[in-house]
Amino acid sequence: MPERRPARWRRLLACKQHGLTFAALAVGEAWLCVRASATPFVVFAGTWLLGLATWTLLEYLLHRFAFHLPPAHPLALFGARQHFDHHAAPDRTPITKPLALTIPALLIGWLAARWLTGAELVAPLWAGLVAGYLGYEVMHVAAHVLAPAEHPLASFQRAHLDHHVDIRSNFGITSPLWDVLLGTRRR
Ligand SMILES: [Zn+2]
Ligand SMILES: [Zn+2]
Repeated sequence: MPERRPARWRRLLACKQHGLTFAALAVGEAWLCVRASATPFVVFAGTWLLGLATWTLLEYLLHRFAFHLPPAHPLALFGARQHFDHHAAPDRTPITKPLALTIPALLIGWLAARWLTGAELVAPLWAGLVAGYLGYEVMHVAAHVLAPAEHPLASFQRAHLDHHVDIRSNFGITSPLWDVLLGTRRR
């Protein structure tokens, strides 16, 4: 009898750290949405989408310029060492970024944005950003743990696996937009 593979979501959550990361980001997302609940819906939706779009650019810039710093670089502590290890063994879990690095970064960014602008719209903006980051972590894990035939967005998976072959291209994981615009998209 052929061996049955566990369901897709089970493989996404097979590593405890993955489940913890998804849960922590989902709780943060819910908290930000509650904080933004007084914002009129159209303003909330527009600002949330702006946050999501901002994430796609941030993801591209971080991956291209911060995560591919040489591991001996003084700034490599902020994600590049972990990313170097990920490129050395792409299927080794956890694939998600360490929560000890990402939660403080998100919190400091949120507090700084609130302090600098004092704007209530920071909550829906950050909600869009955190949703984008959650999408990044889920899609990055999915790219490595799902078989191509079962991935709902196979072209996104292929693009990321191609990045593992040529690290000068395909930096976007949730969106190919910035790779296309900035000339780093390869097939
Ligand atoms: Zn990867
Ligand atoms: Zn990379």
